[in-house]
Amino acid sequence: MVITVPSFADTRQGVRHFFGTRHEPAGPDRAVHMVVSVHQVHGTDVLVVDRPVAGPQTFEGGWDALVTDQPGVLLTVRTADCVPVLIHDPVHGVVAAVHAGWRGAVAGIVQKTLAVMTQRFGSQAASLRVSIGPSVGSCCYEVDEPVLSRLRAGYADWRSLVQETKPGAARLNLRGLVRGQAQSAGVREDGIHSVSLCTICHPDLFHSYRRDGTARDTMVSGIMLSPRRRAPRRTRGKRRAD
Ligand SMILES: [Zn+2]
Repeated sequence: MVITVPSFADTRQGVRHFFGTRHEPAGPDRAVHMVVSVHQVHGTDVLVVDRPVAGPQTFEGGWDALVTDQPGVLLTVRTADCVPVLIHDPVHGVVAAVHAGWRGAVAGIVQKTLAVMTQRFGSQAASLRVSIGPSVGSCCYEVDEPVLSRLRAGYADWRSLVQETKPGAARLNLRGLVRGQAQSAGVREDGIHSVSLCTICHPDLFHSYRRDGTARDTMVSGIMLSPRRRAPRRTRGKRRAD
């Protein structure tokens, strides 16, 4: 079982995506040529896959965002409470998958990914579609001073995202942070969709690091440009990725 958002689910847009739940999807998608999954380190490094890849490939290092213009390459991120963010540029044919915990988010992983899409592939923020997946909600995400001080230093509009619970502690709206960062980078408000499901509140649907106390179980989310069809019907005029 997976969760999809309406704005990405329109297959005419040439993109496939899913936000994973604790119930694994049934069977592999035959359209997938290659799955890219990397070691995540709560950093801000963006891996760009800009050439065809056949078969399993190891990408050395730690990466928390993946970008590709290659059809059939499924970009995946693993999360438990952190925010999975999927991005599609329907104009240039580029997709991205981002793993954003508070650390990576405050350090600018979202804006950095958008900047890489622009620099490498010419993406314009205003035409991007951003989908923010299930993650810990402000209902359950209490953070303490070390997190709050980093947030205050890294995000001007931090007040709108926190609700003080006691001195030195507050509930943080992590999805709101990602949304705000995408908007301040130029993504249109109506280009952003957020799945408002809290991983802690829904044990039937999601693993949660905070709730379960283990980082062993995670959900996989992914996005992929659909492989080009050999004999396209009614797709004339569709731009090519090359
Ligand atoms: Zn909750």
